[in-house]
Amino acid sequence: MTVFDGFSLVRRPSDERGLLRAWDAADELLVASLHRWRAHESQCSVRLLIVGDTFGALAVATDGVQRLGWSDSAVSHLATAQNLALNGGGHVACVGSPEELGGPFDAVLWRLPRAVDVLRYQASVIQSVVGRRAVVWAAGMDKHVPPGVNAHLAELGEVTMVPGVKKAHIFRIAPGDGHPRIQVAPARTLTVPEWGLELQGGPGVFAGDHLDVGARVLVAALPGLRESAHIADLGCGNGVVGIMARRHQPEAEVHFFDESHAAVGVARANVKRNLGGSGGPIHFHVGDGMYAYEGPMFDAVLCNPPFHQHGTVTDAVAWQMFSNARTHLAPGGELWVVGNRHLGYHLKLRRLFGNCRQVGEHPKFVVLAASVGPEH
Ligand code: SAM
Repeated sequence: MTVFDGFSLVRRPSDERGLLRAWDAADELLVASLHRWRAHESQCSVRLLIVGDTFGALAVATDGVQRLGWSDSAVSHLATAQNLALNGGGHVACVGSPEELGGPFDAVLWRLPRAVDVLRYQASVIQSVVGRRAVVWAAGMDKHVPPGVNAHLAELGEVTMVPGVKKAHIFRIAPGDGHPRIQVAPARTLTVPEWGLELQGGPGVFAGDHLDVGARVLVAALPGLRESAHIADLGCGNGVVGIMARRHQPEAEVHFFDESHAAVGVARANVKRNLGGSGGPIHFHVGDGMYAYEGPMFDAVLCNPPFHQHGTVTDAVAWQMFSNARTHLAPGGELWVVGNRHLGYHLKLRRLFGNCRQVGEHPKFVVLAASVGPEH
């Protein structure tokens, strides 16, 4: 028996083979803790904040509580809406930026992030929006909880570690009074002197303060990209690929897409810092791939896709990005993809596009191009 029995919960993208669940033991612990607390303390009108819900399992299983979701991930917001609809639940507002949170909240269910800088950043935000008597539950799967988590959580309040189950742990934190404000260092800047780039990072934004090898290999191949009026950087992260594409083709209209609100904010700042104001227009989109995109078709889509989602290695997101790109390519347009050789993206591209050629290489990585035909 779990708290999710009776609910129907799907992942996004959906797991066709049905091997992966849309919730885990850490979610179970969080929901069970909230239910117990509400029953014991007769907490009827609670204002609940849900932080980092992966696919909306926490929102679905807390029906009846006034709640708000905060997640950096647009995919999480869409999955939450999808799962609420599947289970006949009402609407739960989800926000992507802490400025939209308001507060104060009486209780928080917090899926712990894996990176310490993200954990401390989220703790500082939670600290600013909870009431004095609030209760915070923070949980994660043991293999994903960062080392020294107790010490980091203790910055937020008094921590009680509750016995874990099924390789998951949960902590109860009482923020109370008198804890000093959590100080978060500004994200470090990534400098690429050979390209004349200074790229700001952000909590959880891919690459951080070092350039990803895949991104470097993709950028190195860009001089071979045909002249393109419309270019997309799909899964832009800090924006390095789109910025360098625009340097090669200053008149091109460039669109930056990412599912992470923080990434798109950082890409926007990096465009401002590293590109002059002249040339074609530049646009930014937060969302799941290009699903919500309705603008002009692209002559080139550039993509350094993720190969995992919430700690699980999967090609589902890459696959979805490739087919998504295909529907937004103009006749003759090309999708350029960089990937580790062993990932075998050439097979996927051939299946989707019927063609694939190599346009860049490195001992571990390849850059592949697939084009749509004139009849597309
Ligand atoms: N382009 C950057 C680079 O090369 O350094 C980042 C590449 S990183 C491997 C993959 C990026 O895809 C991340 O920024 C991630 O947030 C984004 N991403 C993951 N799933 C996505 C989705 N469904 N839609 C849009 N972006 C997504």
